Parts: sequence; structure tokens; C-alpha cells
Amino acid sequence: MVLSAQHIDGIRKSIEQYTSFVITTHVNPDGDAVGSSLALASFLKHMNKQVQVVMPNDCPDFLKWLDGYDSIIMFDKQTEYAKELFEQADIIFCLDYNCPGRIEDMGKAIESSGKPLILIDHHPYPECDALYMISETSACSTAELVYRTMSACGFESYITKSIAEAIYTGIITDTGGLVHNSNNSDLYAIVGKLLEYGIAKEYIHEQIFHVYSFERMKLMGVVLKDNFVFFPEYQAAYMYISLQNQRDYNFQLGDSEGMVNLPLSVKGIRFCALFTEYPNKTIKVSFRSKGTFPANSFSADYFNGGGHLNAAGGRRNCSLPEAIEIFKQGLEAYKDVLNS
Ligand code: 5GP
Ligand code: MN
Repeated sequence: MVLSAQHIDGIRKSIEQYTSFVITTHVNPDGDAVGSSLALASFLKHMNKQVQVVMPNDCPDFLKWLDGYDSIIMFDKQTEYAKELFEQADIIFCLDYNCPGRIEDMGKAIESSGKPLILIDHHPYPECDALYMISETSACSTAELVYRTMSACGFESYITKSIAEAIYTGIITDTGGLVHNSNNSDLYAIVGKLLEYGIAKEYIHEQIFHVYSFERMKLMGVVLKDNFVFFPEYQAAYMYISLQNQRDYNFQLGDSEGMVNLPLSVKGIRFCALFTEYPNKTIKVSFRSKGTFPANSFSADYFNGGGHLNAAGGRRNCSLPEAIEIFKQGLEAYKDVLNS
């Protein structure tokens, strides 16, 4: 992966020239969003820059051990302060999202600040009026791109153990522990370098993958037993988590993490969806696929969404049965692609 020399040069000069930076990321920030943001923030702090991370809303508890989490500003809780930060910034970084429109009210506030944007992201089809842009779909994570960008800028000497841990967190959360989307051998050279900073690898895996509640495990059991439907004719499946399931098992932010991947371990399933019901007839869907099946196109066609080829998401204002009906219509329409 070769990053654009022109954009790297622009980013390096911007970092050297300016003093005040805001780092933003997407709604419902995941490990890559939080890890890449905190890593870049620490880099800039070590370069004696003023820097603030602003996220649209809070992340799941399993990411809160990351160094720097405590000083993140949540736009939904501190909206006016966040807007002031945008107004005061010299540069706003956009990490792990490809279009300010995807981050709702915070995206509007970023756009209306009129500040120059630097985008670092690995989602396809960026729609962002950025001054400089590192947009690489072949990267496993934005955290990987933050590492590559800072190295290419010549700032690698500013890396610390906590930066390495934040980058490693982004890499392992977006690849399911270096399983998906992680075939590039260069990535392991990066992971090797991160290990040289003395990162607590086992501790990080423990914090991220082994911190579920007893109730969440029970919920997973119920979802697998009662809410999991397989369509062999489409090599596809869906699962759902209703509001009632959430009430029954004290559902917390992050509890559905990883569940959407489970159907893909069944022989004969190459595409699956997880529907999560929200109040006021809102359904959020996560999609996962194997091989060349375009989960992102399916999501765009039926659930106002998008994402990567093999991991996508979307939402729709409808009931759970309606969402499932729409999904089935999609399967029929995509039947040939599913069975190709
Ligand atoms: P997840 O299933 O983990 O929530 O999302 C997987 C991927 O799908 C994300 O990395 C993101 O690229 C994409 N995604 C999730 N939700 C949405 C959405 O509402 N709209 C779009 N365009 N992409 C989404
Ligand atoms: Mn990501």
C-alpha cells in the first residue's frame, strides 16, 4: 500500500504548521474509531499540539480502558462546547468515516465550521470535501492508516506504548482478532513493530473480547435458539434482537458486538444480517458476507446504508417483521449473486 506522497506531504506540513486540532469519528464509535482517534491524539500531544477528540456519542464499556478515553468530548452530551472546539480548531481530522453526512448533527456542525478537513479512512466511496485525504480500502482499519500516515510523515519517533495499544486495538477490533480482512503481510510487520513498544497484548484481548456480562451470553443463546433463520436456497441467514429480548437480558451498548459474525461459521451461509430493534419503529441492521458478495450494495439498496464489501450496516424506519420482509425481498433479488 503506497500512500499518496502529495497528501502525506500536505498532512505533515499541516501538523507542523498548525497548533490546534480536533479529531472526530463516527456515530456509535467502535474499537477502530476510538483506537485510531486516541492514537492520533496522543501523537499530536507528544508533538506539543493542542488536540481534542470529539465523538458523536459514547463507545461501549470494553473500550474505556484506552489511555485518553476520559478526555473525549461526546457531542450528544456537550454539543455547544464541541461546536466551540470546531470553531477554534485550525484543522479537523475525520477518522474512520467517509462522509460527514454519516455522522448526523455532528457532521453538520463540522461542515458549518468551515474548517479544513483531513480525512483518514478505509471505507469505500468517500464523499468528503477534505483538504487532504488518506482513503485506502485495502487497509484493515483506520488505525493501520494512522500508523502508516504518521510513519510516512516521519513522526514514528513519537510513538509510545499507549499509542501502540490504541492502534493495536483498532486493528484487532476491525479484523475480529486478525481473522477477517487481514491478509496483507505488511500488516504483520506493523503488528510486529507495535509489539516492540511492549503492548500488553493478552490484556488488550481480555479487555475487548472477554468482558461480556452473564446476561449477554444468555441473550446470545436465546437469539441463536429462537431468532436465527437460515435460507439454504440463498446461502443466507438472519438473526434479530427485539426490544423485548433487550428488556429480558438487560441489554447494554456493545452487547450485540460480534453476534452478527456467528451465522458465517455455519456451512452454507455466506451472507447474514442482524436486526436490532430500537424504539419508535427504528431498525438497525448489520450485514456480514464472505467472498465477493457485496454486503455494502445490499445495505445501500434496502437499508439506506453502506460500508465495506464484507461488513456493512444500515437502518430503516419500520417494524421488525417489515424489516425481515424487506430482507427476504432483497435475497430474492440478489439470488443469482448469492448462488454464483
Ligand atoms: P457494524 O455492523 O459493525 O455496525 O458496521 C459494519 C460496517 O458497516 C461499518 O464499519 C460501517 O462501514 C458500515 N455501516 C454501519 N452502519 C452503517 C450505516 O448506517 N450507514 C452506512 N453507510 N454504513 C454503515
Ligand atoms: Mn474501521
